[in-house]
Amino acid sequence: MKHKTILITGGSRGIGAATAMVAANRGYQVFINYLKNEEAAMRVVEHIKLNGGRAETFQADVSSETEVMRLFATLDSRWGNLSALVNNAGILEPQRRVEEMEADRLHRIFQANVVSCFLCAREAVLRMSTKRGGVGGAIVNVSSLAARTGAPGEYVDYAASKGAVDTLTLGLSKEVADEGIRVNGVRPAFIYTDIHASGGEAGRVDRIKDSVPMKRGGQPEEVAQAILWLLSDEASYSTGTFIDITGGK
Ligand code: NAP
Repeated sequence: MKHKTILITGGSRGIGAATAMVAANRGYQVFINYLKNEEAAMRVVEHIKLNGGRAETFQADVSSETEVMRLFATLDSRWGNLSALVNNAGILEPQRRVEEMEADRLHRIFQANVVSCFLCAREAVLRMSTKRGGVGGAIVNVSSLAARTGAPGEYVDYAASKGAVDTLTLGLSKEVADEGIRVNGVRPAFIYTDIHASGGEAGRVDRIKDSVPMKRGGQPEEVAQAILWLLSDEASYSTGTFIDITGGK
């Protein structure tokens, strides 16, 4: 069987790891990028292989252009023919009001959450576009409900970075719509992952969950299913659109 290749940035933990496992179940060979946590990335690969799938890990900081080039060059030499990209890697910094945010923090957030998506999308389009000899493909950008709420009192910088990701999704989707590439986004919120601890509040989902119409937090797999649908041929006439995965909030 010919496997389709998917690249998932930040695939070692949380939503990215769940997406890697669901993608492998759907028959993709999965290239799992991570930043630091090799052990977690290897656990995802082992899980996929135990279930008969194909996966490899690759360490790279996707906020760095040099490292993104290295990542894609390795992908080309290992598997070639990228079919799907999930721009999932993202970071939070501790909760602060805007008047307490210094420039270094803002640069880190925008570099990790926005520049990374542009760089990886660029490299994916160069390989997928039918105008450049590719056979098409699909991209999903992982945004956040914060893009709509602004996350006041928590992390307006993070929310603004996700707003930029949504604008990338809209603009790029139209640029490449007649080149065989679909570009969509998901906007999750209140998902049980490690990211809330890096925002300084590990128990954030449980604090907020009663204000969510469904009265619960979400699981990474629930985001992964939406991502895989947007990547699939079932979503063949959808581009530049978003699925909110927020329990109704
Ligand atoms: P997480 O559990 O903290 O995992 C983050 C992942 O991103 C890890 O695999 C990490 O790698 C990787 N990563 C971070 N910076 C990277 C970089 N510069 N280069 C390569 N990989 C990098 O986060 P998560 O909650 O699954 O979040 C995934 C995405 O969903 C993010 O874009 C986040 O903003 C978005 N999101 C999450 C929620 C939520 O409630 N959890 C809500 C809305 C949006 P290491 O393991 O090596 O550190």
